Amino acid sequence: VTVMDAAAAVLDSIESREGRYNCYITVDREGALKKAEDIQRKIDSGELTGPLAGVPMAIKDNMCTEGILTTCASKILGNFVPVFSSEAVLNLEKAGALMIGKTNMDEFAMGSTTETSAYGETKNPWDENRVPGGSSGGSAAAVAAQECFFALGSDTGGSIRQPASYCGVVGLKPTYGTVSRYGLIAYGSSLDQIGPISKDVADCAAILEAIASHDEKDSTSVARDTDFADALTEDVKGMKIGVPKDYFGEGLDGEVKEAVLKAAQVLRDKGAMVEEFDLSLAEYAIPAYYAIAAAEASSNLERFDGIKYGHRAQEYDGLHSMYKKSRSEGFGAEVKRRIMLGSFVLSSGYYDAYYLKALKVKALIKKAFDEAFSKYDLILGPVAPTTAPGLGESLADPIKMYLGDIYTISVNLAGLPAISVPCGIDSKGLPIGLQLIGDCFQEKKIIQAAYTYE
Ligand code: GLN
Repeated sequence: VTVMDAAAAVLDSIESREGRYNCYITVDREGALKKAEDIQRKIDSGELTGPLAGVPMAIKDNMCTEGILTTCASKILGNFVPVFSSEAVLNLEKAGALMIGKTNMDEFAMGSTTETSAYGETKNPWDENRVPGGSSGGSAAAVAAQECFFALGSDTGGSIRQPASYCGVVGLKPTYGTVSRYGLIAYGSSLDQIGPISKDVADCAAILEAIASHDEKDSTSVARDTDFADALTEDVKGMKIGVPKDYFGEGLDGEVKEAVLKAAQVLRDKGAMVEEFDLSLAEYAIPAYYAIAAAEASSNLERFDGIKYGHRAQEYDGLHSMYKKSRSEGFGAEVKRRIMLGSFVLSSGYYDAYYLKALKVKALIKKAFDEAFSKYDLILGPVAPTTAPGLGESLADPIKMYLGDIYTISVNLAGLPAISVPCGIDSKGLPIGLQLIGDCFQEKKIIQAAYTYE
């Protein structure tokens, strides 16, 4: 198979399936076919080797791509064509991967269903009446529907792991700082991390090797050993895995619980030591996360003012009216809700009561995880309380949607790495995800256990 064949096959499947699923905001057909020839030449000449050379990929539309529309699924960036590419995309292109297009997402990555996109919702390829999860729903659905070989997502509070779980694919959120955020349009800068969404754990390791890098343009990125694929061994003997009792209480669907506990038993049978423990701060994670994420978002989104790029209102009366009208027209309801919430928790008089309090909760959560990792190599639990909900259900009740993030967001507050791997199918025929959480910089343990389980 040539790179051109692979690209053509993916483009064909996009053509026949996009009308149903809407995984992409932009498909770069011509560009991809041209680049495919270039990559093939480099493979033939021996200039390009490695597992990702010539592999068609999709990129979440909140990562800048030079010369290609990057909307963040928002009207406010509906005409934004960046003059540079994000570091993670450049790293993948250096490894020879071929970008096919930009995937749909919740507007500015705010959401858990991909329904807040200004470009229509993505549908779950397992059941078109259900959401693919979010915010990286387009990326996860594109992998599940074979509209790409792998994709990049971003995870601020679960946005890689939860859609991976709803779509029956693998998604990894790396340790904060592993992947450069340069060129990733910021949501909650202290929480955001780019990571792979793939068909299996081996692909996930190869992608992580390519995207992990220290980058001077992101001062929070760190230099790391990137030999993640070395962890692809089928062996968990002696590994200590903690199962938080608090993750299996009220609100967790019975079939999800059963599948996840069965996965724990599989790892036990393969030689891991698996035991229950208390991690009782989980219930405080949601309010703390939504205060911190909204605070950072309200500040990050100030830059979208209609002046240098992005949507500008047609008619206005002076500078302030232009800001106001451009932003009112450009942002959707969920984004506006977060900007208001974030501005409120940061405002003088409320800062101590909400924002500062949330930061203290964050520190306590980190401490609780530190304690857990002094005893365990990994923490095992569900990714989400249920399998994929029906379209429209969450839009009606945002609070309920926020509560669905219970098992994923404390990982971001503590900066930890975590993976979602498929662990079963419920009686509705929908995939269930297993979450494995590691201590900072322990992706190799996660990959090893996930690969052994898979
Ligand atoms: N659902 C969460 C939110 O809406 C997480 C989103 C994300 O990880 N980008 O903020």
